[in-house]
Amino acid sequence: MNYDNPNINERGMMYGKWMTAPDTWTISFGGGVYCYLIIGGERALLFDTAYGIGNLREFVEGITDKPLIVVNSHGHFDHTGGNPWWDEVYAGPGAEAGMKKAFSPEMQEDFNKKPHPDYKVNTVREGHIFDLGGRELEVIEIPAHHESSIALLDRKGRAIYSGDELEAGQVLLFVRNELLPLKEVVQNHMNNMKKLKAHWDEFDTIYPAHNGPGLYKSYIDDYITLSENILAGRAQIMPNLAGFGWAPSVEGTGFASLGALERAQYGGASFIYVKE
Ligand SMILES: [Zn+2]
Repeated sequence: MNYDNPNINERGMMYGKWMTAPDTWTISFGGGVYCYLIIGGERALLFDTAYGIGNLREFVEGITDKPLIVVNSHGHFDHTGGNPWWDEVYAGPGAEAGMKKAFSPEMQEDFNKKPHPDYKVNTVREGHIFDLGGRELEVIEIPAHHESSIALLDRKGRAIYSGDELEAGQVLLFVRNELLPLKEVVQNHMNNMKKLKAHWDEFDTIYPAHNGPGLYKSYIDDYITLSENILAGRAQIMPNLAGFGWAPSVEGTGFASLGALERAQYGGASFIYVKE
């Protein structure tokens, strides 16, 4: 093993990559966090940067040499930690607050040593177009899991990149900067899913930031039904958070201070939230 390479550790390569579709690459960190490299005729766009461990920039430049635009799905550090490999990023409104705050002191130290820890954050809003040259990505604001969440609609690739707002394992509704009453955040999520559904004929696949990638778009319907069931007080609640993704037990995950968590599910959709 060549341990001089910052992307190799005792387990081998820290990042995995595969071409999900022509000119569309999934970059996986640790098997649990997905970034997407979307390549157009003139530019490439990296959607999320994982925790920033190793040298993500070197890894990305091993795939494409096109000028790169870095965009975050939202302001959580498992999607923004690699930003300081570049001097500028784009993100949704409210992402900047907290996006440079690592999940541990060790990660913070690593972050501070990167080339651009004071990188610039450009805020993008609904309807913003990233023009990659023959391939345009449109920003759709979908805040619920986090205040700053955006999705990207890729009409040419017939895909939606959804960050943490739409995924197969579960969507966490208790990790926002400001916790909202459950029904309010569920209503917001439902409205967001209906916004995505309005583009039904323009995409086939959803690429989430965890627990994917590559979901059928019918997940959107499952999430809408789940929200309707919660709002009507008839959702299926899973005992002891039992489910099909990461189950954050209250003990030992740093979320104990929030109180008891609950998981509701319908079909492929599930939410985890603070029990009221
Ligand atoms: Zn998140």
